[in-house]
Amino acid sequence: MPDEIPIPAAAQTSDHFSVQAATDAYLAEIPANSRAKSDAYFEGGYWLVLWDFLYGAVIYLLLLYFRWSAKMRDLAERMTRFKPLQTLIYWVEFLIVTTILGAPLAIYEGFTRERQYGLATQTFGPWVNDQFKGLLVSLVLGGLVMVVLFGIVRRLPRTWWIWGAIASMVFLAFFAMFAPVFVFPIFNKYTVLDDPRITKPILSLAHANGIPADKVYEVDASRQTTRMSANVSGFGSTMRITLNDNLLSRATPEEIQAVMGHEMGHYVLHHVSKDLLYFSVVILIFFALLRWSLEKSLALWGERWGIHGIGDPAVLPLVLLLGSIFAFVYTPFANTHVRTNEYEADMYGLNASRQPDGFARAAIHLGEYRKMSPGPIEEWIFFDHPSGRNRIMAAMRWKSENLSLFAPKPGQ
Ligand SMILES: [Zn+2]
Repeated sequence: MPDEIPIPAAAQTSDHFSVQAATDAYLAEIPANSRAKSDAYFEGGYWLVLWDFLYGAVIYLLLLYFRWSAKMRDLAERMTRFKPLQTLIYWVEFLIVTTILGAPLAIYEGFTRERQYGLATQTFGPWVNDQFKGLLVSLVLGGLVMVVLFGIVRRLPRTWWIWGAIASMVFLAFFAMFAPVFVFPIFNKYTVLDDPRITKPILSLAHANGIPADKVYEVDASRQTTRMSANVSGFGSTMRITLNDNLLSRATPEEIQAVMGHEMGHYVLHHVSKDLLYFSVVILIFFALLRWSLEKSLALWGERWGIHGIGDPAVLPLVLLLGSIFAFVYTPFANTHVRTNEYEADMYGLNASRQPDGFARAAIHLGEYRKMSPGPIEEWIFFDHPSGRNRIMAAMRWKSENLSLFAPKPGQ
């Protein structure tokens, strides 16, 4: 771990400290070729939002138009008379077919492109292994969701959209609560961090901010990626702060403290529970739109596609097609919601950690996979975190208002 944080000349404490000059000095430390690379990577991601949407839409339309979905439903009906089991069998067929059809784009996006940009650490075998685990998780958890939701639709044909939305919210809250304990450990190893040099300042920072934590978790993210990150996950009693091993191995203590201050902001500001509340409203609106658009589409094409009604599992590709249209249109709003939380956590983190230079360094490290200086509209549409430039600017603004904290002490 580097021992002392390097601060560019223009960002050092002085009586002529300028926020703009300090920000520019940090930005100037990024070599032009790394900046070009992370810009290209991130801008490619804009197009992937579109390609993912179109590619998915084509798959769903194929399943509907050629009646593959209806045939999968027929097969499930031949295998059992028990409705919930039919739904589950249909779900398994659907997952297998869409995984195969979706593989080319999934491999390019999740593996080839990540390797090209030097962000992946896995070879193809272990990557496929992780995908397989993800498929099994979708099979079990998705299967449960499918059986419950289709059960609701069949029993409550008029009010299913309200009960379906409520059930989805409950699933979301349960997932948020139990994923850190039961799902995430399937993919990575989580351990309690026990290096007092790192944990002591973090736990002290936590206690000072009213967080009753006595441990910090470490995750071996380097199994999959070179990205540095940390997060707050869980809900209620499973809530925890986790640092990834890339952050631990490459960041200075000041940087780690700045990042931890940010994560504690998420915790103290209750972002997880507020998000659950916020997305509950989004889900309800989504279900209302879904009901309306499903009824319209089924009246037009239901018979041609061999779908017997909203309670028929064969309707799933249509549900996901309509859902992906909403999600695509909703992308900038979802990003802006998350980015606003992130900015709040940034402000909280600066105040809590008092490490503006650590924060600026962290922003540069995160700039390895995010564009540093987007335009304002670009940031509004595509960024789920404030851009690196804005984060460094915020840190230097904080520093300029708190210069006395960094003044050399007498006798030094
Ligand atoms: Zn955050």
